[in-house]
Amino acid sequence: VTDLQTDIVPALAGIVGDSHVLTDPALRAGYEVDWTGRFRGRALAVVRPADLEQTCEVLHACHAARVPVVPQGGNTGLVGGSVPSPGSVVLSLSRLTDLEAVDLEAGEVTAAAGVTIAAVQERARSAGLEFGVDFGARDSATVGGAIATNAGGIRVLRHGPMRAQLVGIEAVLADGTVVRRLPGMMKDNTGYHLPSLLAGSEGTLAVITRVRLRLLPRLARRVVAVAALAGTGEAVALMARLRATLPALAAAELFFDDGLELVLSHARLERPFGESHPAYLLVECAAVTDPTDELTDALGSAAEVRDAVMAGDAPGRERLWQLRERQSEAVAAAGIPHKLDVSVPIGRMAAFETRVRDVVEAEAPGTRTILWGHVGDGNLHVNLLGPAPDDDRVDEAVLRLVVEMGGSISAEHGIGRAKVRWLSLDRRPEDLAAMRAIKDALDPAGILNPGVLFPAGE
Ligand SMILES: Cc1cc2nc3c(=O)[nH]c(=O)nc-3n(C[C@H](O)[C@H](O)[C@H](O)COP(=O)(O)OP(=O)(O)OC[C@H]3O[C@@H](n4cnc5c(N)ncnc54)[C@H](O)[C@@H]3O)c2cc1C
Repeated sequence: VTDLQTDIVPALAGIVGDSHVLTDPALRAGYEVDWTGRFRGRALAVVRPADLEQTCEVLHACHAARVPVVPQGGNTGLVGGSVPSPGSVVLSLSRLTDLEAVDLEAGEVTAAAGVTIAAVQERARSAGLEFGVDFGARDSATVGGAIATNAGGIRVLRHGPMRAQLVGIEAVLADGTVVRRLPGMMKDNTGYHLPSLLAGSEGTLAVITRVRLRLLPRLARRVVAVAALAGTGEAVALMARLRATLPALAAAELFFDDGLELVLSHARLERPFGESHPAYLLVECAAVTDPTDELTDALGSAAEVRDAVMAGDAPGRERLWQLRERQSEAVAAAGIPHKLDVSVPIGRMAAFETRVRDVVEAEAPGTRTILWGHVGDGNLHVNLLGPAPDDDRVDEAVLRLVVEMGGSISAEHGIGRAKVRWLSLDRRPEDLAAMRAIKDALDPAGILNPGVLFPAGE
């Protein structure tokens, strides 16, 4: 530890004020563990700048002292990327909450990094528009964190992930330099597109401080249905037909009977069907005019559908969504899960679902395997309850299966610390070398999120 590193805490206090540099273990605690409780670290301090200027000064000071910096938004990420590495400072962007009025002419809004996804959705709605990304952690996840992980969620089928909403960005490089491209022009071919580069960079290239997001027409008439099915193959076939014939299709979420049972008892929800079925597909349609009849006809004529429930009113829709969305919380309440978010080509989803259960049982007998996913994106969330938090043999077995089946070892959560060891299974050496060259060019001292995406010390 150099003198500069020892002096970092008073230096940071000089920039943001004593009350925004947290060194007391009790105050740091919530920033040092991830949402699942599986990943933990210890920070020198947590620093909470108020604005862009303070963020630049913090980075400048940490860079001069070669103190690692771990950017953190809502700390809802699921791959340990926001948990501090040894000797690092957690840079919390939670005080950057400036949210501008919607630019109606452009159909865009500018938000500071610490604004939550729910606040952007609300601002868009109040202007008669809509934001294209939504997921369960909406009330805590920030736009900075969601861009940094290129979060996906339940609307990717229709609108794409965070990267597809991003039309401008402001960010601070490791040494405190600001890069900015915020006017939000849809046509802007003036060289490397920094917003696209920073989307999915997981805090390893720059600290995002402000983003410009595109908004969409508001489709206020919505209907949600849950269809009971024989399995994943039927869910894929039904989703493919609905996607081809129902332009209003906005979400298609797959879950299974064991996950349903878990959420029913955890959240005390009403049972949707009299009897159990192997699989369920939650479908939402959204349009300017009421899409209920279209969805009723489509489900009514589908041979795969064994039974179905439907809701058009807001509380009813919410009740059905909870059956799927609260499964994450139900799993977390049942233990410390291993969460593997993967995708496979859609045509192989059914085979993957069967094989992954077999692989888990062979590698870690007795493990509870709870699956759910965004079926239109070939994305399954593999939740494993049983293996110890630091025993990742079963993780490796699942990820090897994914690669063997031509999939991606991270569909939407990123690599973080959790999957660093296996990135080379998924990406070619040439691709990894290009990624490394970008990292070295933007952060030559390697202070931004060491151990995330690339192995620590590499
Ligand atoms: C209940 C639940 C449901 C979820 N559902 C989904 C889902 O459906 N789809 C999906 O894709 N994800 C989902 N997630 C995970 C998702 O990745 C996060 O919720 C969200 O994207 C992270 O935002 P955050 O502000 O919490 O970021 P954090 O967790 O704080 O950070 C995540 C990563 O981004 C970096 N980072 C954070 N802020 C910045 C910044 N300003 N600049 C640079 N880097 C930064 C961090 O260093 C870290 O590597 C879910 C999480 C939970 C808990």
